[in-house]
Amino acid sequence: MGRMAEDPGRRRVLLAAPRGYCAGVDRAVIAVERALEQYGPPIYVRHEIVHNKYVVRTLERKGAVFVDETAEVPEGEIVIFSAHGVSPEVHREAERGRLATIDATCPLVTKVHKEAVRFAEADYDILLIGHEGHEEVIGTSGEAPDHITLVDGPDDVANVEVRDPEKVVWLSQTTLSVDETMETVEGLRRRFPLLVSPPSDDICYATQNRQTAIKQVAADADLVLVVGSKNSSNSVRMVEVALGAGAGAAHLVDNAEEIREEWLAGVSTVGLSSGASVPEVLVDGVLAWLAERGFGDVEVVQPMREHIQFSLPKELRRDLRAEAAAKVRG
Ligand code: SF4
Repeated sequence: MGRMAEDPGRRRVLLAAPRGYCAGVDRAVIAVERALEQYGPPIYVRHEIVHNKYVVRTLERKGAVFVDETAEVPEGEIVIFSAHGVSPEVHREAERGRLATIDATCPLVTKVHKEAVRFAEADYDILLIGHEGHEEVIGTSGEAPDHITLVDGPDDVANVEVRDPEKVVWLSQTTLSVDETMETVEGLRRRFPLLVSPPSDDICYATQNRQTAIKQVAADADLVLVVGSKNSSNSVRMVEVALGAGAGAAHLVDNAEEIREEWLAGVSTVGLSSGASVPEVLVDGVLAWLAERGFGDVEVVQPMREHIQFSLPKELRRDLRAEAAAKVRG
């Protein structure tokens, strides 16, 4: 049913599902918690373990220390690499710094790294569709810097240069807009008709499912709220997808405190979802905020279910403190 057909007096929330934590984020956050329990603080984490302020602050309170670079971690300590993945050079830096490492890179990001290595070994030019400066793109590019060219959306297609137009493959960041990526691929294929596609989707299941669900919700919503942090790529994409799917307005908020009262003016249906790095407690806060303003009627819109889980990083099964001490002793 479209917006025009709704009873104007009825106020409701369409709650998208799946939303929130994906399997890769769940694994990364649990990895930090387990490391803190197993080895005690401090546990160093290179970059935000996942792009969510609340998660980062909660882990800091438990003893995690977030650093920008591996070089900031004292010799002999434990460092965790975030879900977004790191380049091989970062692993080498950690080795030089005699650090024990736990790699919480999402297995679906690792899959893209492996594809990059394989196509580089076969001497392809790799066109990596992604956002310049995003940690995942930096990590993937580091696997084969001489073979990878970043393509930052459809407008960047015209700038791409390759050595041999008959030996070109595209790969992508895992958290992009599915529709915009396909537009970029079409543009690339017009320029390079023999362009090879990745063996399986690089945009991960969680990103795709959250976009499918928010599209369904957005078509009937006057206002869409996406809970997520500004530096969370998949959350930002959900706002764009909601607007593209017909939402009257769409905003990204870290929590209920960031919602502005004036956004509710004239609104009868609010669509709500959250990015893949967002704990459910933040969505609960938004639901409570909306209920206080007459939006207590909540309908779940769930086009699909998710059952994916990843096992924890294997390093958590070893005694890393002992390994790090042995490295320092040489
Ligand atoms: S958003 Fe996708 S790629 Fe990123 S951590 Fe989650 S499952 Fe992995």
